[in-house]
Amino acid sequence: MPKQGGAQSAAPRRIGLLGGTFNPVHVGHLRAALEVAEFMALDELRLVPSARPPHREAPQATAEQRLAMVRLAVAGEPRLAVDDRELRRDRPSFTVDTLESVRGELATDDQLFLLLGWDAFCGLPSWHRWQELLQHCHMLVLQRPDADSEAPEALRDLVAARSVHDPLSLEGPSGQLSFIWQTPLAVSATQIRQLLADGRSARYLVPDAVLTYIQTQGLYPAQTLS
Ligand code: ATP
Repeated sequence: MPKQGGAQSAAPRRIGLLGGTFNPVHVGHLRAALEVAEFMALDELRLVPSARPPHREAPQATAEQRLAMVRLAVAGEPRLAVDDRELRRDRPSFTVDTLESVRGELATDDQLFLLLGWDAFCGLPSWHRWQELLQHCHMLVLQRPDADSEAPEALRDLVAARSVHDPLSLEGPSGQLSFIWQTPLAVSATQIRQLLADGRSARYLVPDAVLTYIQTQGLYPAQTLS
């Protein structure tokens, strides 16, 4: 009898997700993503650009341009990929919807890891259906080594019940959380937009291909004082 369900007999895959507006993507995102992918031995870490309400797009990069920049940034790096599902929807997605959608494409025992900065993690209780997130993924919370912050009250039970000291020991497809101690590069998209608005260079803060794209598309133009 032929074997069925080839995907089930393969080793579980380890997939990470890093959401953001990526307006524009920069070396802070890329180094953090690559370091987590290497440390966690992920098969793939996907950058997931988020949709923004159309009225907020106007003065800056469009969704297509943000997506194009992320694609250029990860080109040639096999551990990093781009997932554009949130931009293919006609309205901004909730993370729980994205996780459900990704999960639907994976084998049951594949491991899914949602990367969150400490600030995002602390804001979790305001997220839509946040208590369901761990049904679909593990959470990896990126924490600065020098931080000594306590999780907010609303998250203490979750941390007590679900956190695992060693991120490499997260087991199964979903359901646990762990902290990764990582020093972020001091770069933000806000800083890059400001530099460009001031007519200064953003070279070495974004990959050269992204900088060329910004220039050819005329993104983040220098503001002239009137
Ligand atoms: P902005 O300055 O426009 O708010 P940003 O640079 O913070 O943007 P986002 O697109 O909001 O970028 O970030 C996406 C994700 O990347 C978030 O989880 C954020 O915490 C993380 N991130 C942003 N900058 C860095 C950095 N320098 N190092 C590590 N992670 C970062």
